[in-house]
Amino acid sequence: MSAAPEASASAGAAGAGGARVVAIDGPAGTGKSTVSKLLANRVGAQCLDTGAMYRAVTLAVLDRGVPLDDPKAIAEVMPGVDVDVLVDADGTNRVFLDGTDVSDRIRTAQVSAAVSAVSAVPAVRTTLVALQRKVSQGRFVVVEGRDVGTVVFPDAGLKVFLTATAQARAQRRHLQNLDLGQSSDYDEVLAAVNRRDHLDSTRAVSPLRAADDAVLMDTSDLTLDQVLDELTRLVQQRIGAPQ
Ligand code: C5P
Repeated sequence: MSAAPEASASAGAAGAGGARVVAIDGPAGTGKSTVSKLLANRVGAQCLDTGAMYRAVTLAVLDRGVPLDDPKAIAEVMPGVDVDVLVDADGTNRVFLDGTDVSDRIRTAQVSAAVSAVSAVPAVRTTLVALQRKVSQGRFVVVEGRDVGTVVFPDAGLKVFLTATAQARAQRRHLQNLDLGQSSDYDEVLAAVNRRDHLDSTRAVSPLRAADDAVLMDTSDLTLDQVLDELTRLVQQRIGAPQ
């Protein structure tokens, strides 16, 4: 497993330090990905989507036909899996699995349904946390995920935990599905949101939770611009301008 050359090219002497890391954690459907990308653009940072890495490993597990209820077998897949992340100049993340660009394939419903089981396996987390630190080293980055402020970068310059009610999150996902021309049933989407929240927040390793020193922001009744304005202010206050 390695970082793409573009992603690691500027690795400097910052060690594992997270002073110039903005950690954005929270459950699915809080607008985390959109907020992280736009915030990174606004403040001149790069954006790293850690969920995409867990999705890539999940795709590898599915492609190899490994049973999802066998954590040992999932762990055994890891040494043979090569995940690369390439952070383009415009901040877009492209994810490669064994040299192939899987940025689209990791977004299927099948991967979404399987990713919680795979990401609960300790060997998967250890490997991906190391990759996330390596890719971010020496950079000004907005890193989004579930455990960025608690585990990956406990010394992040700014930690944000986005929340929203399960209903607000399900409604957003439901509208997104319809926008994409996919059939969607609100009750089913809500059940899936609740199921994934439950799995992600009750797993033994790195459960989804806010870091003690994270800024909590409930986005249920906020517009995207309101969220971005507040986060931009916090980044400038805690981290300052890009160097
Ligand atoms: O952010 P996204 O919804 O794409 O993440 C997919 C899944 O990856 C999450 O539901 C969670 O199971 C896992 N994940 C994780 N730790 C992270 C990021 C994502 O366990 N830092």
